[in-house]
Amino acid sequence: MFELSPCHLIDTLHAGNARHVCSRARYAATDEHADLEETRPLALVLACSDLGIPPSSLFDVRPGELLVPQSAAITVDDGVLATVAFAHEFHGIDLVIVLGHSPCRVFRACAGQACGALSREVDTSLRQSRRATPPEKVHTARMAALLRTKIAGLGPIHVASAHVDETSRWVEFL
Ligand SMILES: [Zn+2]
Repeated sequence: MFELSPCHLIDTLHAGNARHVCSRARYAATDEHADLEETRPLALVLACSDLGIPPSSLFDVRPGELLVPQSAAITVDDGVLATVAFAHEFHGIDLVIVLGHSPCRVFRACAGQACGALSREVDTSLRQSRRATPPEKVHTARMAALLRTKIAGLGPIHVASAHVDETSRWVEFL
């Protein structure tokens, strides 16, 4: 998978998700002690802090093939920006996937609450989602758009957004 363009890499991850959902995964979750020195990360996946499934399992890739920073409700904060910059400069990663999920316990806990910046972001997503379901999809697309804006000066990095239903485990690229 080394020289794949971002679009082909997305296709590869999509196919891996299909294997995962259909119980035909190539890589078992027990492979977690793979030699990370020999594994080159292919993409960065920004995941929510309460995502219940490791993205490497979800996309059926080897451990270490995805860099996975996590933040509450996939908030784009300074730590996320620093990690994306590191991934691009050090590993040459040019694909970032902002991976939302539902149900997101963080998103739902912050809705309508006075918990600072996180609640403001969640409430903005809820207002924009209107009747779209689940509202987490709108939030994911918003965070991806925000990330695109904030890393515009870093170079050619493709930012995709995706959503996983934790019950079915299907990933939908938005
Ligand atoms: Zn979440």
